[in-house]
Amino acid sequence: MTSRRFILALLLTALAQLVPLRAADVARPNFILISIDDLAYADIEPFGSKLNRTPNLNRLAAEGMKLTSFYGAPVCSPSRSSLMTGCYPKRVGIPNVLFPGNATGINAAEHTVAELLKARGYATACVGKWHLGDQPEFLPTRHGFDHYFGLPYSNDMGPAADGVKSNLGDPLPQNPKAKGQPPLPLLRNETVLQSVLAADQTTLVIRYTEEAVKFIRAKQDGPFFLYLPHSAVHFPLYPGKAFQGKSRNGLYGDWVEEMDWSVGQVMDALRELKLDAKTLVLFTSDNGGTARGVNTPLRGFKASTWEGGMREPTIAWWPGKIPAGATSGAMASMMDVLPTFVKLAGGEVSGDRKIDGVDLWPVLSGQRQESSREVFYFFRGNFLEAVRSGPWKLHLVARGAAGAKGKQAKEAAAASEQPPILHNLDSDIGEAKNAAAANPEVVKRLQALAAKTEADLGTEQAGPGCRAPGRVENARPLIDSEGKVRAGFEPKL
Ligand code: MG
Repeated sequence: MTSRRFILALLLTALAQLVPLRAADVARPNFILISIDDLAYADIEPFGSKLNRTPNLNRLAAEGMKLTSFYGAPVCSPSRSSLMTGCYPKRVGIPNVLFPGNATGINAAEHTVAELLKARGYATACVGKWHLGDQPEFLPTRHGFDHYFGLPYSNDMGPAADGVKSNLGDPLPQNPKAKGQPPLPLLRNETVLQSVLAADQTTLVIRYTEEAVKFIRAKQDGPFFLYLPHSAVHFPLYPGKAFQGKSRNGLYGDWVEEMDWSVGQVMDALRELKLDAKTLVLFTSDNGGTARGVNTPLRGFKASTWEGGMREPTIAWWPGKIPAGATSGAMASMMDVLPTFVKLAGGEVSGDRKIDGVDLWPVLSGQRQESSREVFYFFRGNFLEAVRSGPWKLHLVARGAAGAKGKQAKEAAAASEQPPILHNLDSDIGEAKNAAAANPEVVKRLQALAAKTEADLGTEQAGPGCRAPGRVENARPLIDSEGKVRAGFEPKL
């Protein structure tokens, strides 16, 4: 061997040793994010449910950490936009719910959590409800997910005649042309498998679960990111056959319990494949519960900026890394998922754009009591309605005027429901007693924070800190009202 070849051989040997060392240095955990649609704060036993049985979530909480102050958004699409981008929904141009055939959706210029993890070598899958746009440009497969299976939006966004405006067992309208949206598509990647009818809705939890477990098995060598946003327990209620009539809480309880079963299936697969030590599981909901659920002790429901509209029952699990049986009241949010996951994956969030999320790992790992988030802003659509700093939450607008009914509307008309409305969430989590008059300095401080954010994100319109959503020409639904599948999305024979 010539000395040059010998040196080359030495170099190659040294390099070969360096590579595994580096890989071991940067241990990339798997991530599973399970999100339920419209699950209320106290719909599961770890968060106080007395109605629904959730043994699998009980175990998840016993082995992990409950996050009791984790915020989503008042409704679906905004919440999902903040999860994917690490930003307030208004910042990324998705402050409101998207509908079938809308011309807007998630912008290709955004860096989604899936794209950032994919760049770190992760296999990625989205199984379930997407809701960040149904045009080809907006689908999960164009935003960092290798695989997609599910409904591109809510399970009620279809024609009434297909059963999407009525719960399981309710009579369908006689008129087949009864009002509604175009047929509800079930997608695999960018193929429409079928339009979803009432009977199909009862199979969604099972099909999503099978798909999720299949992905975990296929990618068990890791690292992988599985995003599992269930269509359950959003209206209309369609629990699977095995769960119908089994709970003590009607169709709603049946579906919550089926969702819990699904969590158990995913966790069983992790344990069987011995992936528990290298997988972080986060369980949450996109927005607050509806009146079908139980939000106790929070006030208000979905679509509001009361705590009951945005605070989600959340559990983080990673044996050996996240303390077991722990509870954290640290202020956390959907936006924090992106920076937290990307950092754990050894990646970096690009500094070329503003991200509102913070790294939650110091809280999740038990190293710190409080997150680095000092303020959280409660937007409803384009409007900043409330701001929280520490235990103090200030409502900036008269409450209950829009969307309030009956008793709630009357309550809202009371003088104490006119701004400024201040609550100390440590002592008044139900937002019942206006503490503004006694705490003028706190009111002033929170008003100043709100003004600062309105200067950035705007008041009624988008502000200078907002980025545009994605936009397409000639937007149209994936299945038209005649049942014809959009060109390019037909099943391949
Ligand atoms: Mg929702």
